[in-house]
Amino acid sequence: MKCKKCAEKLEVHRACRRIRMRCTGCGREYQIHEVAGDLDRETEKILEKYTAIIYD
Ligand SMILES: [Zn+2]
Repeated sequence: MKCKKCAEKLEVHRACRRIRMRCTGCGREYQIHEVAGDLDRETEKILEKYTAIIYD
């Protein structure tokens, strides 16, 4: 999925027990709930690996 600011790719980024989506272009981080409505299938699959983690 794409960054809302610069349209570069977002990657799933794990920090401690939290998950963020981080832009590979501008470095902006998104909380999962911020991008939940735009998750694509690829990203959902990655997130399924982190079901034990609380999305804050
Ligand atoms: Zn960006």
